[in-house]
Amino acid sequence: MIVGAGISGLAVANFTSRENVLILEREEEIGGYCRTVKQDGFVWDYSGHFFHFRHPRIEEYLVSRMPADSVRRIEKSAKILYRDRLIEFPFQKNIHQLPQEEFIDCLYDLYFRDRGAAVHNFSEMLYAKFGRGITERFLRPYNEKLYACDLSELDADAMGRFFPYADIDEVIRNMKNPDNRSYNSTFTYPTGGAIEYVRAFEKALDPSRIALGETLVSVDLERRIARTNRREVRFDRLVSSAPFNRLLEICGIEHDRRVFSSNKVLVFNLGFDRKGWPGVHWVYFPERHYRFYRAGFYDNIFGSERMSLYIEIGMRTGDTVDLEAERARVLDDLRVAGVVTDHQLVSWHAVVLDPAYVHVTTESQRQTAHYTERLAQHGVHSIGRYGGWKYCAIEDNIVEAIDLIADIDGRRVDLVEPARS
Ligand SMILES: Cc1cc2nc3c(=O)[nH]c(=O)nc-3n(C[C@H](O)[C@H](O)[C@H](O)COP(=O)(O)OP(=O)(O)OC[C@H]3O[C@@H](n4cnc5c(N)ncnc54)[C@H](O)[C@@H]3O)c2cc1C
Repeated sequence: MIVGAGISGLAVANFTSRENVLILEREEEIGGYCRTVKQDGFVWDYSGHFFHFRHPRIEEYLVSRMPADSVRRIEKSAKILYRDRLIEFPFQKNIHQLPQEEFIDCLYDLYFRDRGAAVHNFSEMLYAKFGRGITERFLRPYNEKLYACDLSELDADAMGRFFPYADIDEVIRNMKNPDNRSYNSTFTYPTGGAIEYVRAFEKALDPSRIALGETLVSVDLERRIARTNRREVRFDRLVSSAPFNRLLEICGIEHDRRVFSSNKVLVFNLGFDRKGWPGVHWVYFPERHYRFYRAGFYDNIFGSERMSLYIEIGMRTGDTVDLEAERARVLDDLRVAGVVTDHQLVSWHAVVLDPAYVHVTTESQRQTAHYTERLAQHGVHSIGRYGGWKYCAIEDNIVEAIDLIADIDGRRVDLVEPARS
């Protein structure tokens, strides 16, 4: 049994050699967070989903199962709006683009930072690696807006390889020889939206194996029986991509709920009557007077004529969402930023991703590892970004599915090789 028809669940279904597989998906469509919305001529994802594959064979595998010429490859242009000027991302490598006094502050603080400071959490890591100037102008406010929590609660390595580190040599070298490479300096994006990568996995599957609108409700671990909103099913293995804390509840495992905290992200997709800023693919907004932390420009990815934006707002899980008020605020802030001038909004869509960014802490990692092992003893495997309670991208989800299949089916899928950076 597979729980969830997102990228993780469908990758497992695709690679397993088992025949008697049932995939439960509580929504009425597949895709999970990689779903795409097509509306009034605009193509939007649940949130901007762009892809940087480190394993060429995984990318080839997917692309060969997609319509010909349907994937665009794009040289990334990511900026930061900081005090009315656009500077290149990542901030820490482009401080020379700041007004001179601020540049000097950042450089001075970077050079004289407390190199020997003990680092126990994400906040301390930022100060220790980048100094006060860079941290307080960008890294701290931006990440506080995104995670919607106190950064000292997060593990120092909460973002793993997705955090663009830069040492002082790189920062200074970048002033003369720009090299803004980060983990995704080029990216791909299908013309039909992120869902196309998921469909590449769905293609090989027998549709009758995917039960849409069916939710896993409880699991009897001892007897290996799963109860859904429709039936009882005996399983040999159960692979779940549901959020880990939800799976623990489903399996009746007592746990400390406070350990598994996360943010939620309110996403607005906005379609306008005409073009806006050219060239840029997404912009970070660290300043607190902007409600959102990031805005992306689909029209500059598709090369289309009408501005098509995604807007991301980080919130605490318990926060109530007043869509009308938030949308009005977002449009006001876009005007202040100069993104919207006399544009007319002609189409829009909103979705809340909850959880969106899990709060990776020392304790969440310890408890996830502990309960993962306990569940595995009963044939239950928790995978994916939320099943693993971690920060990762879709390719990581696919690699994890391949590794799980090797483990539980003894089947080696030959798509993973040493990763390119
Ligand atoms: C704001 C944001 C931006 C992102 N941007 C990128 C990006 O640019 N590039 C990238 O590679 N990755 C990106 N990601 C990460 C990417 O979305 C995830 O890695 C990926 O979608 C996770 O897939 P999944 O299958 O593990 O989980 P999900 O997509 O969450 O799928 C889990 C599925 O399980 C179903 N489910 C849950 N509970 C039950 C139940 N009890 N019964 C039945 N079904 C259930 C859900 O409905 C869902 O369909 C982003 C994530 C966020 C939040």
